[in-house]
Amino acid sequence: MSASVSAPVSSSGNLKIGIVGFGTFAQFLAKAMIKQGHSLRATSRTDYSQLCADLGIAFFSDVAAFLGADNDVIMICTSILSFSQVLKSMPFHSLKQPALFVDVLSVKEHARDTLLRVLPEDSDVLCTHPMFGPESGKHGWRDLNFMYDKVRVREENTCSSFLKIFEIEGCRMLEMSCTKHDELAAKSQFITHTIGRILSEMDIESTPIDTKGFEALVQLRKNTESDSFDLFSGLYVQNRFAKQELKNLELAFEKLKHKLPKRNVEEQEANQ
Ligand code: NAP
Repeated sequence: MSASVSAPVSSSGNLKIGIVGFGTFAQFLAKAMIKQGHSLRATSRTDYSQLCADLGIAFFSDVAAFLGADNDVIMICTSILSFSQVLKSMPFHSLKQPALFVDVLSVKEHARDTLLRVLPEDSDVLCTHPMFGPESGKHGWRDLNFMYDKVRVREENTCSSFLKIFEIEGCRMLEMSCTKHDELAAKSQFITHTIGRILSEMDIESTPIDTKGFEALVQLRKNTESDSFDLFSGLYVQNRFAKQELKNLELAFEKLKHKLPKRNVEEQEANQ
């Protein structure tokens, strides 16, 4: 990690945060940031100028003007699949001063490697993964996990002001390497989404005699479907540990099937 230096953030700790990709998750995060008094601006593939005006956010369809808008932090919230292409197309020469680049992608090695490859060397890099979304965080963020990795941080004050947003909301702050995150997330989040998608393919629905366990499965299906398929695809394609976890799931399913007694043998025995 680089040596720290003092920071130019305002004395109140309020940040000017530029958001790239103003989809579902960015809008969800933006509401808490606005509530805390930060000043937001956004750019996105889709025109969100009306929605942004309603929220008091400046919307830039011109990415160069967005980069030139004096941001302390630039938070990238695009899909995992479009992340690299979006970053590569950004005219970084329009930056007026170095900024802290933060990403919130659900895969971390890919985010880290791409940011380090394409950003100007004087930009700081903070990789994060809020381990919750609009559904699980709809009643507040208290005790929800927030993972971060200070990949290249020199302006410590800007970084800690940004992390404070999540601390104030009561998140459990977990500093962890991007690699460790991906290893753990493949075993936990990716498996959760995969099971949710399987239940969705099966079209499970609640019945008049639901057990609590089945209610949880129906809820899992609902939660998984509220995320885009791009997100699920990204969890698989850009996490090098996910492939093995999918194999483990298949193997476990086969093993379980073989553990079950053969039904027709049982029936034959019962009829003897
Ligand atoms: P998503 O489908 O993963 O991403 C949607 C965002 O990506 C939108 O801002 C969209 O822009 C942009 N995008 C997609 N394809 C694009 C392309 N070809 N070119 C430019 N922009 C493109 O849905 P999301 O739930 O909002 O997630 C955003 C990010 O947050 C993802 O990286 C995800 O891993 C991360 N995350 C999500 C959650 C969650 O619960 N949803 C939780 C933690 C982290 P437009 O809206 O302008 O079309």
